[in-house]
Amino acid sequence: MRFVSFATPELPTPHLGLVRGGEVLDVDLAGQVLNVRVPDQMQELIENYERYLPGLQALLTRAGERRLSEVKAFSDTGIAHKLEAVELAAPLPRPRKNVLCVGLNYSEHVRETAEVRGRSAEPPSEPVFFTKAPTSVNGPYGTIGIDPAVSSEIDWEAELAAIIGKTCKNVSEEEALQCVFGYTVLNDVTARDLQARHKQFFKGKSLDGSCPMGPWIVTADELPDPQHLDIALRVNGVVKQQANTSQMVFSIARLISVLSQGMTLEPGDILATGTPSGVGFSRTPPEFLKAGDVMETEVEGIGILRNPVVQR
Ligand code: MG
Repeated sequence: MRFVSFATPELPTPHLGLVRGGEVLDVDLAGQVLNVRVPDQMQELIENYERYLPGLQALLTRAGERRLSEVKAFSDTGIAHKLEAVELAAPLPRPRKNVLCVGLNYSEHVRETAEVRGRSAEPPSEPVFFTKAPTSVNGPYGTIGIDPAVSSEIDWEAELAAIIGKTCKNVSEEEALQCVFGYTVLNDVTARDLQARHKQFFKGKSLDGSCPMGPWIVTADELPDPQHLDIALRVNGVVKQQANTSQMVFSIARLISVLSQGMTLEPGDILATGTPSGVGFSRTPPEFLKAGDVMETEVEGIGILRNPVVQR
């Protein structure tokens, strides 16, 4: 299934939607109409997915094979919307924790950054973890604001993100993917000057709006092999990054297993799994985003983020 957090003029607070075809079913309203107990927020869904799953399946069954908006009772009550008629927020609009990230997880990206940063071109022997502040989270089509007084080196990083679905600690690599609720697309937008100036990544990775995510979470059952997905990023239609998740240095299972040693991962935790080569700062000459640019971040089997860059 594909779950979104969406808003409408009538219900402006982001709430849970189920996407099918080009439409969004308002899960909470559908549950009220059909007398099925279902959640209205993504976090609640993720925490109790197994409990809610039969109800969600019942909603879909009741909607039948017809397009949701054509089901009279649904359209009359406004519980299904055309996808283009709603505003999509990040699937988890305000995560409860920092977004968990890994750096240097594609060897070509390790090589391209090594020269610029004067580091070893060898892939790291253990994952390099850092985080982004929850306030950095942005919608799938949200604007990326550039404030020249803060940073003049805003860069892109296309990434696949895994959403943790079960509390897990000390999980083995073999069991790790069972802890995943689903996957989404994430752009780890980075202020390179701040990243370099402050040594640790946190500040340069955490500017407001620098973590667009979405457009939805695809549940893990629909992406049984997350390690064979094409991933790409385009700026103004020009391909800047093009790779496959099979090229990760550390698999998603390995990352989750390593992170979970002695550290509890919880439902709703977001793990960004690293970016492939083709970022702006390692290009010759370096390229950074400017007002008027539009970034598209795509992961096969999930979808596309589209983020315009604006001056703040
Ligand atoms: Mg990154």
